Amino acid sequence: MASETPKPAAAKPAASAKLQLKDYKEDVHNDWCPGCGDFGILNALQMALHELQLAPHKTAVFSGIGCSGKTPHYVKAYGIHTLHGRVMPFAQGAKLANPEMEIVAVGGDGDGYGIGAGHFMAAGRRNVDMAYIVFDNGVYGLTKGQASPTLKYGLKTKSLPAPNILDGVNPLALALSAGYTWIGRGYAYDIKGLKELMKKAVLHKGLALLDVLQPCPTYNNLHTKDWYGGADRNNQPRVYTLAEKGYDGRVRDPTNHDEVLAKKAQAFAKSEEWGDAIPIGVFYEVELPTYEERLASRIPDYLENPPAKRAIGDAQGKPATDIRHLIEDLRVL
Ligand code: SF4
Repeated sequence: MASETPKPAAAKPAASAKLQLKDYKEDVHNDWCPGCGDFGILNALQMALHELQLAPHKTAVFSGIGCSGKTPHYVKAYGIHTLHGRVMPFAQGAKLANPEMEIVAVGGDGDGYGIGAGHFMAAGRRNVDMAYIVFDNGVYGLTKGQASPTLKYGLKTKSLPAPNILDGVNPLALALSAGYTWIGRGYAYDIKGLKELMKKAVLHKGLALLDVLQPCPTYNNLHTKDWYGGADRNNQPRVYTLAEKGYDGRVRDPTNHDEVLAKKAQAFAKSEEWGDAIPIGVFYEVELPTYEERLASRIPDYLENPPAKRAIGDAQGKPATDIRHLIEDLRVL
């Protein structure tokens, strides 16, 4: 059933003077390979945060392990570089501890759809209000280009000794079945379009997955910028936007089972398109109660008094929690 509760105040702009784009950029060395699609994604993310005027002290970017895992180091906001495949538990935990924070999780397709696949599915069932951006390049770039979960069966990148023996997963279909309430796909070299998709993913009330097609020129010589751009077919780009075809993935009435099924079916069909025509844009969108709202229905003061706002000590600095009885219970005689 659709929720009437507006999105919490996490996306509020900074109270003071308008922030500039440079205010979202960390001035540190970047060691991604020249020509990597990660640069386009990073630029789009910084532009999206800037256009939304999110206060850096109220924004946190979490990452897993992989080339994409370095992203928080380059964005001026709170940055948390976590463990391989574990970005979603960290990021969801932070959001639940402090719902006023705007949380963006980032990671690679190996990180999110491989080792983190269990967390990926469980997150869909919760619908925590945050965005998850996956850098999808078909290889494990940081560890020399092994086949990752989105590389299709039989393909052989220059980093593989033999064609891929496993089939690839369809991440948008996984998200659809897991319960993600906003599902989109962008392209790393369509920076303006990607920026708009990121803004939509952040502003969506609920869990958003944005899968981003990201050329890895060092290890994936199949899905290159030239290939996506159609250099082998008279420069007719393979990537096209769903909007230009009049596609509409939004569910108007989440209580209408037939409408939900029809929208899911068309999103699934579109997500299977690949090869000469690769759609990007918003595949599916629905508004359902978030996990925070479900918690608030059981813990009435949760949103006003979440864990991050609770006192952990008294005026003298003594911990508010007395764990002596717990220690006693655990004592081994
Ligand atoms: Fe980018 Fe690939 Fe280099 Fe990693 S290995 S930085 S994904 S080009």
